[in-house]
Amino acid sequence: MLLKGRTAVISGAASRRGIGRATAELFAEHGARVAIFDLDAAAARDAAATLAPVEQGDHIGIRCDVADRQSCVAAAEEAAHAFGAINILINNAGITQPVKTLDISSADWERIVGVNMTGVLYLSQAIIPNMRQHGGGSIACMSSVSAQRGGGIFGGPHYSAAKAGVLGLAKAMAREFGPEGIRVNSVTPGLIQTDITGDKLTPEMRTDILKGIPLSRLGEARDVANIYLFLASDLSAYVTGAVMDVNGGMLIH
Ligand code: NAD
Repeated sequence: MLLKGRTAVISGAASRRGIGRATAELFAEHGARVAIFDLDAAAARDAAATLAPVEQGDHIGIRCDVADRQSCVAAAEEAAHAFGAINILINNAGITQPVKTLDISSADWERIVGVNMTGVLYLSQAIIPNMRQHGGGSIACMSSVSAQRGGGIFGGPHYSAAKAGVLGLAKAMAREFGPEGIRVNSVTPGLIQTDITGDKLTPEMRTDILKGIPLSRLGEARDVANIYLFLASDLSAYVTGAVMDVNGGMLIH
């Protein structure tokens, strides 16, 4: 039990096969009381209801659009009201779109950057005052191998830009809030089998991608959840501003 007695907010954790959901399940198994923040309140509540019970109280599901500052503030207040201290924040929510540079519209740019990067800022801003008040915490932010290698897997250049922005934001927050006991790290997964790619990942693309992965398989949601667990727990007590690759060796650098 690595998170016994802790509380965690996880964004983008309602979708059934997603990384956030797998993380919520793992954190509950390790004793954390979890708040699932997602776009659809009912889906978030349903997901929370499936998690393993913990002694601190019921898991909760709350509607939150991470790209909307006010929505983040309202959801954070609701979680703080239920939990008191929020010990862990997993900035996991994200969306993608496979388009090329010249095809990115202003609306596409706003949407992809808004959820993937601005969402990390807004939700962190909403939760950090609570962590400060309670003497510290751990924040992990979802980036992508796409940020490190300039895409080429699935998301477009706007996705790569947003996920690269997350790395800079997380490192700057790590520097700013380290003295207050708040650690901030990032994860950079390769291709993980979830529903984010919809039906756009063809068998040919999959075969091509597999050729470039030394561990010869695509990632599972649990592979990333395990890294989030490490970053959320005291196992990583002296780790901040770090970037954790979870990519099967797709990018070795
Ligand atoms: P997913 O589609 O299963 O999960 C994404 C979740 O985010 C969903 O529950 C969705 O409802 C939620 N969400 C979307 N927009 C939101 C918003 N504005 N506010 C709150 N919640 C919102 O996909 P996933 O693959 O589990 O993706 C999780 C994260 O991992 C994303 O940030 C994604 O960019 C990142 N990522 C995924 C992969 C991959 O290969 N699957 C690789 C690298 C990074």
